[in-house]
Amino acid sequence: MSVPIPFNKPYFSGNETRYIEQAVRSGKISGDGQFTQRAQTYFERDWGFGKALLTTSCTDALEMAALLLNIGPGDEVIVPAYTFVSTANAFILRGAKIVFADSSATNPNLDAASLAALVTPRTRAIVPVHYAGIACDMATILATAEYHGLAVVEDAAHAIDSFFNGQRLGTLGTLAAFSFHETKNIIAGEGGMLAINDLSFASRSEIIREKGTTRSAFFRGEATEYNWVDVGSSFLPSELTAAYLWAQIENLADIQQQRTALWMRYYAALESLQTLGVGLPVLPAYATNNGHLFYLVCRSRTERDALIAYLGARQILAVFHYLALHTSPYYATRHDGRALPWADHYADCLLRLPLFYELSETAQRRVTEAVLGFYQTYTY
Ligand SMILES: *Cc1c(COP(=O)(O)O)cnc(C)c1O
Repeated sequence: MSVPIPFNKPYFSGNETRYIEQAVRSGKISGDGQFTQRAQTYFERDWGFGKALLTTSCTDALEMAALLLNIGPGDEVIVPAYTFVSTANAFILRGAKIVFADSSATNPNLDAASLAALVTPRTRAIVPVHYAGIACDMATILATAEYHGLAVVEDAAHAIDSFFNGQRLGTLGTLAAFSFHETKNIIAGEGGMLAINDLSFASRSEIIREKGTTRSAFFRGEATEYNWVDVGSSFLPSELTAAYLWAQIENLADIQQQRTALWMRYYAALESLQTLGVGLPVLPAYATNNGHLFYLVCRSRTERDALIAYLGARQILAVFHYLALHTSPYYATRHDGRALPWADHYADCLLRLPLFYELSETAQRRVTEAVLGFYQTYTY
């Protein structure tokens, strides 16, 4: 019996336990301690985000974005249908209407050319998701947003250390949200970050993150009193989370190299499936690969589900991804009825293969041999 290969596995990259211990010994494990400051400063100085705030999750960073933009009832927000629920929920929670965009034929990212037709006088924001860490067509998205006076919130949950035409993802939108969930590239259990590129949102972002108070400025000695001045919630992570994250940031280059090497090996081993009509990830010329996830686009849902079962029988956990949100039990009756065929296609046919830092070459070969074995016998 072969050893099971999980889809994902959390790991230590180096100093995680040492830094967690250091945080405890320093006498502060609540938020905004030295590890949070270090991480935020790193992302601001080295990555060029106007301001970076660690959050408890990407979900919370998106909720902060909706609060900062004063999204409310009557507003419309354009979100891809093929995404995680948090991308939409953040704006639903504020009473907005979600207008779903279809994916592109090239890859699961939203079809930027379809956006202009979705804008109405009530539209306030566009929320592109860089699926698999592959950049959306930000030139078209930003031009559409600028023309109609809309905010752009990048859902960069997959997109750490990836680029659009040489510009870092997360620096292009008005705001951008990252995830450090254990399934993402660099991890902290649950964790996230809001990047604030339009600095007119900078001071309010700190207030919203600290329960609507001036606590952040007060503890920096910039405010004379600590008061309740706005709406807010508790969006800051514990120092235990930030300590774990800082160790991962220190090893980012190594983590990215390992993940992209795994990704390239998958691509090389499975490339031949394209002659059958099975899709592999497509990177437009403007995009980079950050090795976030490797997917196949099967020819039908039946085939995709048969492949999942075939791999499962060989102790390999491969998984489908998003169910298109416009057909979900929550949203189906709220959706405006437009057909979104590409989102449906990826929901039905996309399969993700195991990809994590400690996946060995031997285990990966078992995955690719099993996938190829499936296609030797499967009749479409
Ligand atoms: C993972 C993910 C999120 C949510 O991230 P959390 O940190 O788990 O809240 C949001 N959007 C996308 C596209 C994701 O993949």
